[in-house]
Amino acid sequence: MARMKMNDICPTGHENQSGTHLEGNMQSRWDDSELRALTSSYVGKGVNEDLAIRTYTTRLLGREPRLVLHGGGNTSVKTRMVDALGVVHEVLCVKGSGWDMGTIEPAGLPAVELAPLAALARIPRLRDVDLVAAQRRLLLDSGAPNPSIEAVLHAILPHKHVDHTHSNAIISLTNQENGEELIRDLFPDTTVIPYVMPGFFLSQRIRKELDESPAPKHLILMCHGIFTFSDDPRQSYDDMIHMCTAAENRLDAGAPRPFVRTRLPARAPGVSEVAPLVRGALARPSDVEGRPVRWILDFRTSEQIRAFVDGADVSDYATRGNAAPDHSIRIKRFGLVAPAPASGELEVFAAALSASVRTYCNEYVAYFERNSARAGGGLTQLDPLPRVVYVPGVGLFGVGKSAKDAAVCADIAEATVDVISRAEGIGTFVALPEEDLFDIEYWSLEQAKLAKSLERPLHRQVAIVTGGAGGLGLATARLLKSEGAEVAILDIDAERVDLAAFETGAMPVVCDVTAPSSVEDAIHQVACRFGG
Ligand SMILES: [Zn+2]
Repeated sequence: MARMKMNDICPTGHENQSGTHLEGNMQSRWDDSELRALTSSYVGKGVNEDLAIRTYTTRLLGREPRLVLHGGGNTSVKTRMVDALGVVHEVLCVKGSGWDMGTIEPAGLPAVELAPLAALARIPRLRDVDLVAAQRRLLLDSGAPNPSIEAVLHAILPHKHVDHTHSNAIISLTNQENGEELIRDLFPDTTVIPYVMPGFFLSQRIRKELDESPAPKHLILMCHGIFTFSDDPRQSYDDMIHMCTAAENRLDAGAPRPFVRTRLPARAPGVSEVAPLVRGALARPSDVEGRPVRWILDFRTSEQIRAFVDGADVSDYATRGNAAPDHSIRIKRFGLVAPAPASGELEVFAAALSASVRTYCNEYVAYFERNSARAGGGLTQLDPLPRVVYVPGVGLFGVGKSAKDAAVCADIAEATVDVISRAEGIGTFVALPEEDLFDIEYWSLEQAKLAKSLERPLHRQVAIVTGGAGGLGLATARLLKSEGAEVAILDIDAERVDLAAFETGAMPVVCDVTAPSSVEDAIHQVACRFGG
């Protein structure tokens, strides 16, 4: 009986960033009254009206995980602004580095001088660092964040509003053997651009395209995403939703569950039994005796994820490469496929999993060496461990240095599962070659997004505080959190434990420590949440 409860504790894992699973087609989120309220509030604070509207429409796109995930995608608006000396400038307000579209503020769309920014696309060669420096010099406010690496591309497009996303459905279509044909069939008026490394090279490529045909009706970039644009913000947004919905409808014609299920053990162990073994297999010795470098996990499962991880060919389609190139900076070129665990045979699973992790790491080192040599050397290898672990019969785990970090990887893994599943439903998913994925993973501009935050002493550790809802327990929970640990507060009083968790950011667990079954349940909940 107790075992059944353990399995039920964490049946579906955590929700993605928007609190929705990825099934079903997307809808327009446009709401005139919401737009009016937000715009008048910002304009009242002195924000340029175009920028206020752009903030609203950027958030709309950013709230849809099938379009944009964690720093991916970008938007812009061309407008006029006055500098500190009262001089009027034609500017591009474009998404700044480090901002997420779903929660963006006007400050996250820094203003850059438009004409000289657009002129950069005419320069024959420009190194990444020089592009970043040139864009910074053109900022109206020198304290603003770095403009997006796609700022030049936004500047050369001749429309006021430009929207760019990495739509799952569009990528499911472009990443096929006949991807270009599928896209041209579905969007005959749209300009299709072969894959080019984002940033300066992509701007140059689009500049050339515009010189030849100056009035494109939207752009689809193979293996990358989609740009819509218009002088009317609603038109640009609606076109994005309509085109992505058309792509979803095209995919709906395919098989919803394209994978043949493998033979799995008669009974899989619970998540709380598997997670600590995954966490253990990923731990590595550190310089400090008895203090291995650990990882925090974030578990996800759904009907779509189970169909994916339970597929007989999961080791093939899950390791062809990521769905979108920028995902490589978060989850490397692909995740690890674990062996299928059987209930009651956890030691066998643990040994097989450790072997899989070793193989994954060895292959990662080889991948780094061959591509680093190709790129001219001088790069420093990142740690070789996977950031996603697919477990047949169970689900998937995001792997990170913190719960937040692990959740980002799990969100991206869910998007990957969605893209590959839908692509396989109508044909065969084809990823970018590893050279292209490597170039993004080791791209200095992308690495800047992951700028190292200093780790605190208890980072990557999980702590349980009993009686943590008040007094000494609560003080201990606060201290552990402040030192970087992921903390679960156990207390018998549900209301107090919720309050304490709200205050500290810890996980609340109602538990009667005098009842062994209650303690056992609590431990399993923590294992489900953080991995162990
Ligand atoms: Zn992009």
